[in-house]
Amino acid sequence: MTNTASFAFDNSYAQLPDRFFVAMPPTPVAGPSLAKLNHGLARHLGLDPQALGSAEGLQVLAGNQVPGGAHPLAMVYAGHQFGGWSPQLGDGRAILLGELTDQDGVRRDMLLKGAGRTPFSRGGDGRAALGPVLREYIVSEAMAALGVPTTRALAAVTTGETVMREAPSPGAILTRIAQSHVRIGTFEFFAARGDVEALGLLADYVIKRHYKEATETENPYRALLDNVIQRQAELIASWQLIGFIHGVMNTDNMSIAGETIDYGPCAFMDFYQAETVYSSIDHGGRYAYCNQPQIGHWNLSCLAQSLIPLLGDDEDAAIEAAKDALGLYPDLFDASYLAGLRSKLGLGGKRDGDLALGQDLLRRMEENQADFTLTFRGLCSLSGASAEADAPVRALFDNPSAFDEWAIQWRRRLADQPSSDGERQAAMRAINPAVIPRNHLVEEAITTAEENGDYTVMEDLVSVLSAPFEDQPKNSRYTLPPRNDQIVRATFCGT
Ligand code: AMP
Ligand code: MG
Repeated sequence: MTNTASFAFDNSYAQLPDRFFVAMPPTPVAGPSLAKLNHGLARHLGLDPQALGSAEGLQVLAGNQVPGGAHPLAMVYAGHQFGGWSPQLGDGRAILLGELTDQDGVRRDMLLKGAGRTPFSRGGDGRAALGPVLREYIVSEAMAALGVPTTRALAAVTTGETVMREAPSPGAILTRIAQSHVRIGTFEFFAARGDVEALGLLADYVIKRHYKEATETENPYRALLDNVIQRQAELIASWQLIGFIHGVMNTDNMSIAGETIDYGPCAFMDFYQAETVYSSIDHGGRYAYCNQPQIGHWNLSCLAQSLIPLLGDDEDAAIEAAKDALGLYPDLFDASYLAGLRSKLGLGGKRDGDLALGQDLLRRMEENQADFTLTFRGLCSLSGASAEADAPVRALFDNPSAFDEWAIQWRRRLADQPSSDGERQAAMRAINPAVIPRNHLVEEAITTAEENGDYTVMEDLVSVLSAPFEDQPKNSRYTLPPRNDQIVRATFCGT
């Protein structure tokens, strides 16, 4: 085997007209060093992990060398940031190298985040700091293991340069893999300029790449909108069901392919509290946990509005079509969320009171500071017939009788279904994770890397998080909520 890092790029985005991007290479860095390489993902992408981790591969991951077949570019887009309109954003610090086809036949973007200034950098330095790069690596890989649609992390490298943030910080570059980097904001960019031709080309591109089934419908653009709405509803429901808070749900951070993208000040909840906000820049709590479903709807309304010129020849009819499509979102979200909640609770079949039963548990968790992940994981071990084994779960509640009262209702509901305890418990364990990337663990991994250049803590964390549904008794510390002195109250965008 040679040690040459070769990439079978097949680039489609670069075929779009010039006004979709600026073709340009990454800016080289002074002293690249490999922090973390995702061997499994590399193999899945048809890449040789050995070659990627070699000195030559490192030059590619650092942006110092553009590999053969790449067509490096910075994408243009717009977006609504915290509700305010920004007519031009674009990749201010990311370079799309090209597209690879993975072993499932899916086309994936390979992008370097933190690869230097571009015409879209505005005041920024075009770089990324090590902390946020490692957070994105850890959390996006954890999300993938949890079964949530997400971009992936192929590698993290340090640049040997210092970036100025709240404090001077080591510079780093993340190699991100995504189904694509087309965002709601990409559509908004062309719509706002009245560039209907580009809008049509973009929609056709997205349909071909992500929503082939839309071509067979009477109005493919309406089908595109419907499909994006459906995937986004399902995505946000899956966030709610694991206690994930994205943190910056701006329309430029919402993927058209329905993947979780642009991990910034994101975090998982420890104890359940609907109004939780971690982002230090989200002063009004716009992107609080409990607001995510409605914000998803709001973002999709920006997409629907952008698509109006494509939805019909007659503007009134096109507006009606956009409204109809948007009107489907609440039910799609509710259905996806309720189905997931039933599974989390081990409820077979559908009964009228199921949502109320789940919400009652959440309310009691909130009133009693019960840990979100441990409560649901704890339920997986309980008997449907008796409360004998309830001690570990009830102990999660400030007032354990709040759980006892709920458990009576839950058992009444379980008595109604045919599956055995064993079957139900196994099914519940397959969707209620034992481990999530808890904030204090992520911070510990980042701090150790930043201060000592020691990535072993991160390695261990990523490894444990790769099997989130398994009980790993020797790793039980990863399942525990933070002690008071370990609580992390804010995560920073760190751009
Ligand atoms: P984000 O909030 O990270 O999604 O970024 C919003 C916009 O700002 C995007 O267009 C980014 O490319 C850009 N941006 C963020 N950080 C930087 C930076 N350090 N240098 C240049 N552009 C940046
Ligand atoms: Mg972004």
